[in-house]
Amino acid sequence: MEKLISCCGLNCATCDARIATIADNNDLRAKTAAKWRDQYNASAITAEMINCTGCREPGAKFNHCEVCEIRKCAVSKGYQTCADCDNLDNCAIVKGVHQYVPEALENLKFLN
Ligand code: SF4
Ligand code: SF4
Repeated sequence: MEKLISCCGLNCATCDARIATIADNNDLRAKTAAKWRDQYNASAITAEMINCTGCREPGAKFNHCEVCEIRKCAVSKGYQTCADCDNLDNCAIVKGVHQYVPEALENLKFLN
């Protein structure tokens, strides 16, 4: 379970992209792409892009997660997640996620 908490604290275990990837479910890929296009105002997201095994798991990454600044920062510092970082409470980058998904911060606090 803990390895499925992403660097920023999202729960990859409940992410539709990961669920669709593990089950190789093209219907769920299409539904997830449609949902994320609306939710994130991102018209370029296609069903083919919905492939991700999780932020901290080996394997495919959704392209946003591949280039995510938070993930890159945590990995470059040798951290498992931002929970390992002394700057967590003051970090403007990760706050960009936590202001919209407060449970991600709760997940990180739970890891500590
Ligand atoms: S890393 Fe992958 S599984 Fe985790 S939140 Fe991002 S898209 Fe979903
Ligand atoms: S500086 Fe911010 S993004 Fe980087 S590891 Fe620390 S909390 Fe995470």
